Amino acid sequence: MDTHPLVILGSGPAGCTAALYAARAGLAPLVLEGPLPGGQLTQTSDVENFPGFPRAVGGYDLVVAMREQAERFGARFEADAVTACDLSGETKTLTTLTGETLRCRALIVATGASARWLGVPGEEALRGRGVSACATCDGAFFRGRHVAVVGGGDVACEDALTLSKLCAKVTLIHRRDSLRASKVLADRVLAAPNVEPLWDTVVEAVRDPAQGRVTALALRGVKTGAAAELPVDGLFVAIGHAPNTDFLRGALPLDPAGYVLGEDVRTAVPGVFAAGDVMDPRYKQAVVAASAGARAALEAERFLR
Ligand code: NAP
Repeated sequence: MDTHPLVILGSGPAGCTAALYAARAGLAPLVLEGPLPGGQLTQTSDVENFPGFPRAVGGYDLVVAMREQAERFGARFEADAVTACDLSGETKTLTTLTGETLRCRALIVATGASARWLGVPGEEALRGRGVSACATCDGAFFRGRHVAVVGGGDVACEDALTLSKLCAKVTLIHRRDSLRASKVLADRVLAAPNVEPLWDTVVEAVRDPAQGRVTALALRGVKTGAAAELPVDGLFVAIGHAPNTDFLRGALPLDPAGYVLGEDVRTAVPGVFAAGDVMDPRYKQAVVAASAGARAALEAERFLR
């Protein structure tokens, strides 16, 4: 079995930038794309804060361009993901979804994060039947309808804005009375004529699994304790993300929320580096992930040399 000099897990901005730097350093990196090739950026519509794009760029277009740039210098991308790993030896061993066993001398973990769910009754049964965590992917199914978005961060505001262009009405349900989102997004969403915020409110159940579609939400006022029903056709959950690190449990030190622990991009295991949302509970920005990807590749190069 061949031993790769460097394997990179994940193909979002962190993985693609690591691949670009590593390829240019002659390390011929193998990139395992992961279950969502291109990562979370592929689920964003316009990216307005990635430097170099004064008129915004589509999230999907941006990450495709990053990948092409890395491939131009010899990075190889494969449609696969790691399910288990042994990082204890000098040679790291990875077991993949397709049943392959890979060996590498250095590893960059850039597996990103996945959407969190509310965990209320009806939510799981109706996922893909009116409950979604991706407005860009699923918004078009709700053209002309009334939908709700849950959350108060940047993603909830972006989702509400995306949906406001398609839907008759968007109710933005937030558990507090002020948005966490950046001011530019918060101002935009609150100015949208068909977005109605519902403050200090939580969703307690999604109705109606028996009908196989979303018909209403059971709500509870956080301050008043009052129960209410909101008839809606769809629910978009935008309450943050959890790092994709299940396959690393026991192999790398993780914090209680599952983020990879380390000193910047260096983990506790020599030769294993981490970049992007998988190690960043704080900033979670494409440009920050790209920067960490570059640092991880430079560290991997130094380690291998
Ligand atoms: P986030 O900033 O962590 O916001 C999550 C939101 O969900 C918060 O408002 C939180 O409420 C709420 N929430 C969390 N758990 C909840 C629960 N169980 N029930 C109800 N509400 C709940 O996450 P995000 O919006 O996914 O953004 C992730 C990161 O990506 C952020 O750093 C964000 O700045 C970044 N991002 C940036 C851009 C941009 O700059 N254009 C675009 C997208 C994302 P509380 O406010 O009460 O905590």
